[in-house]
Amino acid sequence: MAEKITPRATDYSQWYIDIVINAKLADYAPVKGCMVIRPRGYALWERIQQGLDGLFKETGHVNAYFPLLIPESFIKKEAEHVEGFSPELAVVTHAGGEKLEEPLVVRPTSETIIWAMYKKWIQSYRDLPLLINQWCNVLRWEKRTRLFLRTAEFLWQEGHTAHATAAEAEEETLRMLGVYRKFAEEYMALPVLAGLKTDSEKFAGAVRTYCIEAMMQDRKSLQSGTSHNLGQNFARAFDVTFQTKDKTIDHVWATSWGVSTRLIGAVIMGHSDDKGLVLPPRLAPTELVIVPIFKNDTKDAVIAFARTLRDALRPGFRVLLDEDDQNTPGWKFSEYELQGIPVRVELGPRDMEKNQFVAVRRDTGAKSFAPVAQAAAHLRGLLDDIQKSLYQRALAFREANTFQAADYDSFKKLLDEPGGFIEAGWCGDAACEARVKEETRATIRVLPLDGKDPKGASCIICGREATHIAVFGRAY
Ligand SMILES: [Zn+2]
Repeated sequence: MAEKITPRATDYSQWYIDIVINAKLADYAPVKGCMVIRPRGYALWERIQQGLDGLFKETGHVNAYFPLLIPESFIKKEAEHVEGFSPELAVVTHAGGEKLEEPLVVRPTSETIIWAMYKKWIQSYRDLPLLINQWCNVLRWEKRTRLFLRTAEFLWQEGHTAHATAAEAEEETLRMLGVYRKFAEEYMALPVLAGLKTDSEKFAGAVRTYCIEAMMQDRKSLQSGTSHNLGQNFARAFDVTFQTKDKTIDHVWATSWGVSTRLIGAVIMGHSDDKGLVLPPRLAPTELVIVPIFKNDTKDAVIAFARTLRDALRPGFRVLLDEDDQNTPGWKFSEYELQGIPVRVELGPRDMEKNQFVAVRRDTGAKSFAPVAQAAAHLRGLLDDIQKSLYQRALAFREANTFQAADYDSFKKLLDEPGGFIEAGWCGDAACEARVKEETRATIRVLPLDGKDPKGASCIICGREATHIAVFGRAY
């Protein structure tokens, strides 16, 4: 048997950690708050990277790399930015055995160094738009950390684009929000709410922050990606101007957008169960595992049969054949369930005689039989169905745990039991939002783009006319 996983119902947070550790996705690093991403976790990150990178390139973006170290004076140039990030900065003061003339900040995000470079690269409207992304690590000195969800150092991508007009920057901000939404829903099988953050929750230095929010199985919200319209804030701070078509000079308009290894946490928390990891097939590093079942006298024949099947499947599937003869099939079944491989194929001597195999779904445990001649079609059908049903299951869960609150008392009760997303009127006043946060630990997660009409609704806190129907929830 695989190591024990604490049931979700007993202790959700321990369940999560047990899966991360036992499925060998990540481990704690010697430096507090940091994590080691182990090969199985990293394979998942590679799948995320490949999927997203393809979508970025389809929308005209190119990759580049900017340095890890940023002169401290750069961070201080944008007032809101420095205020937002100062508490989390790690600073290099000594190097090469000497005190540095100017301390260097380990990047918490790269707007400042990128906009210092954009000043050199952008002179005219012909240089725009500039659509650059980088895959890298960043460091934010977090006090409370949790593997994948919040760590001091993490891997991410950060897109930084420059545009000639405010309208183009807004269009880009929304385009990338759409890319994130598509990736979350179609690859990760996680339904998300897409919309605007309130001013108190927006990125330090942004004019507007859009986000995607997903509901986890404990009904808490996980911010899973953000896309910022930076207006001309960074162009002003770094004096990045360009000559417009009609020969005037203007500051450049900017966006930035990012998702991180937190997405791995989202996938784990969104789909997994008490047996371990459950992965959507599109994201799974291994889609199929073939487990031959044999005794000493049937071993060679069954393995040969299994190899033929594996070779036939290889061109179209990420498939693994387990030829090990030390562990029992039962042990292997548990192990691959823990690892979240979407479909297990079992082959024994009797299957071989009938030229068939057994396929077992990780998500439901359902078994099916199919002739070897139809293996590819049968297994592709199963994988597609798992992908769809994981999404549908998560969507049904979110819908069943989204409530409308008529007044502040019922709002508080619903938040405690059962918890979830609560749609309620909000007047737009930051004071009301702050009061909810203080009294209930819930925040406005998102003002959805396709949100409900606030007409006739009143603010759940102060009773004044509502300007939005906001989605409230407790969050990671
Ligand atoms: Zn109010």
